[in-house]
Amino acid sequence: MSVHIVGAGLAGLAAACQLTELGHHVVLYEAAPQAGGRARSYYDKQLGCRIDNGNHLLLSGNISTLAYLHRIGARRALSGPSEPVFPFRDLGTGEAWTLRLNKGGFPWWMFHPGRRVPGTGLRHYLALLKLRRAGPQDRVAPLLRGAGPLYTKLLEPLAISALNTMPDVAAAAPLAAVLAETIERGGYAALPRWARLGLSETFIDPAIAWLRARGADIRLGERVSKLPHGQVVILAVPPWVAAELLPGLRVPDAFESICNLHFRAQMDPGETGFWGLIGGLAEWVFVRPDVISVTISAANRYLDMEPEEMAARVWAELSRSFGLPPEIPPVRVLWEKRATILASPEQNAKRPGTLGAGHGNVMLAGDWTATGLPGTIEGAIRSGNAAAMALVNPA
Ligand SMILES: Cc1cc2nc3c(=O)[nH]c(=O)nc-3n(C[C@H](O)[C@H](O)[C@H](O)COP(=O)(O)OP(=O)(O)OC[C@H]3O[C@@H](n4cnc5c(N)ncnc54)[C@H](O)[C@@H]3O)c2cc1C
Repeated sequence: MSVHIVGAGLAGLAAACQLTELGHHVVLYEAAPQAGGRARSYYDKQLGCRIDNGNHLLLSGNISTLAYLHRIGARRALSGPSEPVFPFRDLGTGEAWTLRLNKGGFPWWMFHPGRRVPGTGLRHYLALLKLRRAGPQDRVAPLLRGAGPLYTKLLEPLAISALNTMPDVAAAAPLAAVLAETIERGGYAALPRWARLGLSETFIDPAIAWLRARGADIRLGERVSKLPHGQVVILAVPPWVAAELLPGLRVPDAFESICNLHFRAQMDPGETGFWGLIGGLAEWVFVRPDVISVTISAANRYLDMEPEEMAARVWAELSRSFGLPPEIPPVRVLWEKRATILASPEQNAKRPGTLGAGHGNVMLAGDWTATGLPGTIEGAIRSGNAAAMALVNPA
């Protein structure tokens, strides 16, 4: 079978790899001059080094992602600590703590005050049971706020970054799905992971090389404006492009942004190379050999802020909290305005399934389709695999 795949983000690449592995011929179209979509790296002239469009955090329970990396020979391109540990700092109070999960399935870390979130008792963790029962209309904040310090110090920051949506708006079910596949399976499934060198070097370039070596026809810089007539197609484009190509297709239409600040500076990476931050603007900081990168999720609330002000405030937080010099180093502020769909119950209801195009020979893929997960790498890859398998094994 010859399959035309539109969009070489992670969903399109995953579909292409799956089909190629099964012996099918793939033609992959990408509008941009490079593949990767929302997960890519580039050389930044101002900073004089390569940076990612944004920090991407994975967990070892993201099994479709790990299988994808294994397939393209890039499993070792991930970095991260050997223990499931998550260091946090409160930028307001200066308090620092480390969540130390145990690796096995039974969460005995919850019984150990030195391993759990400070100020929490076992009763707070019972809130996680409520999350398991979340229905499609439940939102994160009303469901979990009662968990007191566990909510403010862990579940709220986790929800904002995992769902890229503020918890009073965000649907609880996708958060429940993330936790069920990671932390709830035990620490082995919750090891933090990120691209050692860069997103392109880890997820994209090895996939392109793998596909080319197996005869796939990869057409970068080729925007598709009309679906190839009578062909088998996987549409792995953003939702608004899918709706243009397939008039009448119902898709999510509200988005959230993510802001990343890359400072050309160095600091001690500590035990893990990253921190979760609460009580300020900065939410996660990743320490690279030559760059300190900060992520702010659900960033629509800051859209009025000038990049210079954002950089000054975030650097002041880092400087105060980690003892860095007060002068702001060279910085690149990157806003991804439509980083993910808004993870609200209303938007979730608009996410179509793989077959949502309603044409037997057109499949849908992308992190915005109905994966059950929020807009993440794991969701994107899973959607690409699902589209490929739906073509191979039609219902
Ligand atoms: C700043 C940022 C931080 C993030 N952090 C995380 C994180 O920590 N963890 C995590 O798991 N996820 C994270 N994500 C989400 C993750 O990047 C996405 O879920 C994933 O990359 C989506 O892949 P996709 O293939 O579904 O879509 P896309 O990457 O958007 O791919 C769609 C592709 O289609 C192409 N295209 C569009 N129109 C056409 C056309 N007409 N013809 C041909 N090609 C076309 C586009 O150029 C693009 O390459 C983050 C995203 C951003 C932006």
